[in-house]
Amino acid sequence: MDDCIFCKILLGTLPSSTVYRDNLCSVFLDIQPVNPGHVLVIPNKHSENLAGLDEETGAHLFRIGQRIAKALRQSGIKCEGINFFLADGEAAGQEVFHIHLHVFPRFKGDGFGLKFSPGYFTKHEKSELDSIAEQIKLVL
Ligand code: 5GP
Ligand code: ZN
Repeated sequence: MDDCIFCKILLGTLPSSTVYRDNLCSVFLDIQPVNPGHVLVIPNKHSENLAGLDEETGAHLFRIGQRIAKALRQSGIKCEGINFFLADGEAAGQEVFHIHLHVFPRFKGDGFGLKFSPGYFTKHEKSELDSIAEQIKLVL
């Protein structure tokens, strides 16, 4: 993809601080980290979203993310916990349309958090959850 910044990073036409690369994926530091050590795990083959990503590569992104998480804990970088985050689609917060898995260290008081709607704090009835589960199962 000519206008994709992550493809340009993979080609070396844009700089990055690379942590890892194999035949399926690459890992580099996020330019605007939540915390130091924040990396992006991306497929080497351009795919805009999850729907366009084959399952083997998707599983590989997680496998390498898990390996990075272990490395972060051993690295000496401040890391009391780790978040994985993946935004699939604009409504989910995706800004770069070359799919990527964020892996970043967390520590108490780091200021990062999720925002919930007021409705979130109400637990849903089992019947309602069952009905939604059926909707998903039908197309799985
Ligand atoms: P998204 O919101 O799509 O899940 O995340 C995109 C991420 O890419 C952001 O965290 C942003 O900081 C990062 N990013 C955007 N442009 C660049 C860049 O040129 N280099 C690097 N290393 N990261 C970038
Ligand atoms: Zn791309």
